[in-house]
Amino acid sequence: MAKVVVLGAGAMGLAAAYQAVRLGHQVTLLEAAAEAGGMAAHFDLAGLSIERFYHFVCKADEPTFALMQELGIGDRMRWRGTSMGYFTGGALHPWGDPVSLLRFPGLSLIEKLRYGLLMFVSTRRNSWPVLENTSAKDWIERWCGPGVYRKLWAPLFDLKFHEYAGNISASWIWTRIRRVGRSRRSLFQEEMGYIEGGSQTLVDALMRRIVAEGVSVAFGKPATKVEVSGGRVVAVQAGAERHSCDAVISTVPTPLVSALVPDLPKAERVAFDSILNIGVTCIVLKLRSSVTPHFWVNIVDPAIPFPGIIEFSRLRDTGTGETVVYIPYYMPVTNPNWDRPDEVFVAEAMAGLRRINPRLTGSDLIASHVGRLRHAQPVCPPGFLRRMPRVQTGIAGLQIADTSSYYPEDRGIAESIRLGREMAHRLATEGGGAV
Ligand SMILES: Cc1cc2nc3c(=O)[nH]c(=O)nc-3n(C[C@H](O)[C@H](O)[C@H](O)COP(=O)(O)OP(=O)(O)OC[C@H]3O[C@@H](n4cnc5c(N)ncnc54)[C@H](O)[C@@H]3O)c2cc1C
Repeated sequence: MAKVVVLGAGAMGLAAAYQAVRLGHQVTLLEAAAEAGGMAAHFDLAGLSIERFYHFVCKADEPTFALMQELGIGDRMRWRGTSMGYFTGGALHPWGDPVSLLRFPGLSLIEKLRYGLLMFVSTRRNSWPVLENTSAKDWIERWCGPGVYRKLWAPLFDLKFHEYAGNISASWIWTRIRRVGRSRRSLFQEEMGYIEGGSQTLVDALMRRIVAEGVSVAFGKPATKVEVSGGRVVAVQAGAERHSCDAVISTVPTPLVSALVPDLPKAERVAFDSILNIGVTCIVLKLRSSVTPHFWVNIVDPAIPFPGIIEFSRLRDTGTGETVVYIPYYMPVTNPNWDRPDEVFVAEAMAGLRRINPRLTGSDLIASHVGRLRHAQPVCPPGFLRRMPRVQTGIAGLQIADTSSYYPEDRGIAESIRLGREMAHRLATEGGGAV
């Protein structure tokens, strides 16, 4: 039995704590925020408990299903046929199946066939190592031609990654296409999942279980220093408190770890410091009317400064007939727009929605919320795999991971759960801690 301190009570930290306590370790979980859930945490949107950031489940999310079964909430998964749209050229078009692609304006027949082939191949392949050293731009242009990249992809990449848009790894975008592309009932019908009651159902079940199994959980307690002595971890400081331990599992965003672990070997510090993140300002609106018939709409329009909208109530019903829409503004936190007041974002988001659906009026707005997250999306350039620091650091007993650690998979609850549990298993091996 080892004394283990887990840092962060998001999906990864909760899963790590759960697995570690089941393996017989003595576990303390420290979370900086006032509640559990991290990126998947809920808030109250005028009487509706909902995620701060949109969360859907795909059929490939096996680690989530396995954990839900173990926690006795396997019956809370729900699946629903969903659809996508594309707003471009001032009009909304259906998107995401072969017929929509053939009818889509603005692409030649050859471009459509090449695009369709790329999507088909992407969802079928299980491994594609050659993509690791290729940029998404080069990969898409090679398969579909420069026109497809310019018309469909470049505007979306620009609004998500800004100055990094041209240098995103093809492996990363491929695994993303594959995860969503495999979540289908048929070639013509996409199917997405959600957890009844939202991600909070899973977070609550995990919290109940780990507390029952004896994990000591402290909220509002950011770790301030991981102490190292003789090449291994010995304690974690959280303000004035000191938790002595044999092992630490850190799930806090990796850009924060250099400050947290001053004794980290220089090469590892440099590697962690070099992982860039994009922030997100995510607007959540509760509306009296629906915006479009689709769950997800990609947007390529010079008058709309966001790359898409997620009409979440098309997946998880609000139960009141009201609509919930997420409007994500991704940007580096150095972008001058990052600090704009909430009202400016909300007004701009409403104007964008009204451009898509002119029947919407200001009186349709029931409530709004603006959520900000500085480390929302790791930026993974070609060759990222070689640069990724190992989860098991050079310090015995210290493992460090965040959502960039399961690259080329994109950030997701399922992957965070998988890696969290894996780190707990590793406690008994290598320099994991309990050896
Ligand atoms: C806009 C958006 C949309 C998303 N959509 C989906 C989706 O549709 N489906 C899906 O599966 N996933 C989605 N995700 C990703 C998913 O939310 C994440 O992959 C997952 O929740 C990450 O969990 P984590 O525990 O790895 O990290 P986090 O949730 O970031 O947890 C890290 C925790 O560490 C805490 N912390 C930070 N510093 C300290 C410190 N010093 N001491 C102690 N604690 C600290 C933080 O407060 C946080 O709670 C989305 C994410 C975002 C941002």
